[in-house]
Amino acid sequence: MTMELSNDKKEKIEQLRALVSGPAQKVVIASHTNPDGDAIGSSLAWAALLRRYGHSVTCVVPNRYPAFLEWLPDIHDLKIYKVHADEVTRAVAEADTIYCLDFNQIHRLDSIGELIEQNEKSKKVLIDHHLDPPHIYDIEFSNPDYSSTCMLVYTLISHLSNTDIIDLPMAEQLYVGIMTDTGNFSHSNLTPQLFRAVATLVEKGLDIPLINRRVYNSFSADRLRLMGYALSKMEVIGPKVDRVAYITLTEAELRRFNFRLGDSEGFVNYPLSIRDLALSAMLIQNRHFIRISLRSRPDVDASEFARRYFDGGGHKNAAGGKSHDDMATTIERFKTAVKEFFGE
Ligand code: 5GP
Ligand code: MN
Repeated sequence: MTMELSNDKKEKIEQLRALVSGPAQKVVIASHTNPDGDAIGSSLAWAALLRRYGHSVTCVVPNRYPAFLEWLPDIHDLKIYKVHADEVTRAVAEADTIYCLDFNQIHRLDSIGELIEQNEKSKKVLIDHHLDPPHIYDIEFSNPDYSSTCMLVYTLISHLSNTDIIDLPMAEQLYVGIMTDTGNFSHSNLTPQLFRAVATLVEKGLDIPLINRRVYNSFSADRLRLMGYALSKMEVIGPKVDRVAYITLTEAELRRFNFRLGDSEGFVNYPLSIRDLALSAMLIQNRHFIRISLRSRPDVDASEFARRYFDGGGHKNAAGGKSHDDMATTIERFKTAVKEFFGE
């Protein structure tokens, strides 16, 4: 089964086909800092496909993935820059083609971004679903109508070959991104095509309840306590119509709960269950800056908010940015931004 890609993508598909079914290459697949289920799932599935075509593939990410993805097939082949800097440096320098998955701004790769820019001879291919891609890629598959990069990878696979090539491990890799980027099928672009794709993946033998348990019920007690603590100190500001909630977590607070990377994943979604809430934010401190995660009601553009006030971006209803000020200053800047943005 194939699906229509938006616009006229046929020529690009043919260019991609020439690369994929052409002579064996050294390939790097890169995905973003703080890689999530979609970043990792799409990278691993795309790698599996390219290996079938005889390419030698290295998947790279700037830093570690969350523990709830540990079970994913092939995940230990991934090269993490913070752990394997030399291997990542060599792979990127030697790559004939570099595929960029689930992000579009090279700076979201930290040091790996510089390595990619230094390899001027390589072809660069974008496969992504974020807004406003810079037009720096040789081939660009970028469509924000896709709920996940995994769904885009699935569609590309169905065009390049057909879905018969997808085996159970690839189905698990693709499903995890589709599932996590749609909030377990609860928001954004839940199209008939998406459920047809899932049906095809289920035919490969997916065990959905098992994957649900692995992804959503695999947290530590500390993580649950941190979530209870974070939600109990949530602040809600603004008048009735455009209420805004925010949660803050400092490094000291995180230490009290033995914070592990990924532990705060999803906290920012909970305030959206408050009636009429327009925007939910989480301000979380690390050694270098404060990361800001944003989620919004369908009609509110969180990515515009992130871009305007916190040097960030993302999707309309799930975005993020950063602040290099201290927590108190960042909270004040956030409140001022809310007033200006919502015109109060
Ligand atoms: P999360 O809150 O899950 O970390 O991020 C949600 C979405 O916001 C991500 O998928 C990504 O698109 C976007 N995002 C988060 N942080 C940044 C940032 O610093 N810059 C940009 N451009 N996008 C970000
Ligand atoms: Mn994604």
